[in-house]
Amino acid sequence: MNTLAAYTQHLHEMNILSSALSLIGWDQETHMPPRGIGFRSQVMGRLTKNLFELTVSPELGTLLEQLEADDSLSLEQKASVRDIGKQYRRRKAIPPALIEEQAETQSQAQAAWAEARKKSDFSIFEPLLVQMVDYARTFADYFGYEDHPYDGLLEEYEPGMTVTKLQGIIGPLREQLVPFLKQLMEEGTAPDTSPICGHFDVPTQRILARRALETVLYDFDAGALDDVAHPFSTAIAFDDVRVTNRYLEDHITSGLFGALHEGGHALYGQGMPEELYQLRLSGGASNGMHESQSRTIENQLGRSLPFWKHFQPILAEVFPQFRDVSPEALYAAVNEVTPSFIRVEADEVTYNLHIMLRAELEAELVAGELQVKDLPGRWNQAMEEYLGITPPNDALGVLQDVHWSVGYYGYFPSYMLGNLYASQLAVQTWVDIPDLDEQIASGNIKALIDWLIENVHRVGGVYQPDELMRRVTGEPLDSSHFVRYVKTKYSEIYGLS
Ligand code: ZN
Repeated sequence: MNTLAAYTQHLHEMNILSSALSLIGWDQETHMPPRGIGFRSQVMGRLTKNLFELTVSPELGTLLEQLEADDSLSLEQKASVRDIGKQYRRRKAIPPALIEEQAETQSQAQAAWAEARKKSDFSIFEPLLVQMVDYARTFADYFGYEDHPYDGLLEEYEPGMTVTKLQGIIGPLREQLVPFLKQLMEEGTAPDTSPICGHFDVPTQRILARRALETVLYDFDAGALDDVAHPFSTAIAFDDVRVTNRYLEDHITSGLFGALHEGGHALYGQGMPEELYQLRLSGGASNGMHESQSRTIENQLGRSLPFWKHFQPILAEVFPQFRDVSPEALYAAVNEVTPSFIRVEADEVTYNLHIMLRAELEAELVAGELQVKDLPGRWNQAMEEYLGITPPNDALGVLQDVHWSVGYYGYFPSYMLGNLYASQLAVQTWVDIPDLDEQIASGNIKALIDWLIENVHRVGGVYQPDELMRRVTGEPLDSSHFVRYVKTKYSEIYGLS
């Protein structure tokens, strides 16, 4: 067998294990009965170990070495070798004993975090957080970096991103967003949210979520929609990309926009050719780029007036009480801005402020510039500066996210980058399709989805995020597109002159 065929076969073996892991992970969150967890943990542990061994196997190392020197590879094959090679080196960089040690601490940290959050007592989590931050710093040293240890961690989620680049994005963004939020709250008129208030039974909301996913052309022949406590989307395999969702009886928007958000992630997976799945490039260009696709469907489309012109009759069909509510009233109601303590409930204007706060504190923790004991105080101070509110307790503050207890250091910026990518991509979409608003309002959502497939989905992880942005929009990431988008949209909704 030649080298390329052996490499493809190796990836095929990895795909088989990944697919099995995704499927049982999905099952664990959706349908598994509580007592199933006992043996399931063993199955998970075994398959995870097997996949890890394939990721760092000496055979793969040899194949990568040969393929990295092979000029005859296609663009897609080269990208695969680049990503698999990077993963190989990063996974091999950490001594196995340290991985095991960190995994043990992590399970303790997660339990401590859950208890600390429940009791709103940071001191329960503090000693474990100290250890988790130490591991993050040690891992960063093993991964290697040029300027800042946080760079070594960012690379896992957002290839090419660095602290210096992040600061260049966050600084100007904050300078614009903080005063704009203040102006909205002080001078603006908040939209009337009464049209979307009420009690909405869950079985009917499930139907609505399905109709919403059909509206954005999510393919149910290659997907599924199931209930879950914490929504996610997951690619089980090529042609099997699933969405999960949850519903709150008193908040119809939670289930609706949750479905659109996860549907946006899933559309990214469904829009890729099979070859990219085989080459393990179907995870997309980066976490941030993945988030941009969910935000495009949830916000750029789902929270736009043209969408509501099309979707109002569908909503009224499912919930007849909306028959006499205008698309304009619905559009205003779903775009209320409220500075809140909780990130996951944040609106388009405040969301990025929540993220920059986390990114800054996280980078300082990893660099040792901020001590864990000082974290709650710094958190509350930043909340006051950015959002003008101070959390009444740590459960509503520094303890709200799971990320630091499970070791996801460097992940948070992807959420913000997703919003920024989405705005910049949207500008280009509307340049390429000048009458897109009219098309969406008349129900031709396909025009938008086809554009996303052609420009973003089809190339999966072939290009790094920065290069993809340049190719599609002609320039690197520029946060001013996002600023213009929120200022224009929300000045109008809030009646600012
Ligand atoms: Zn997402």
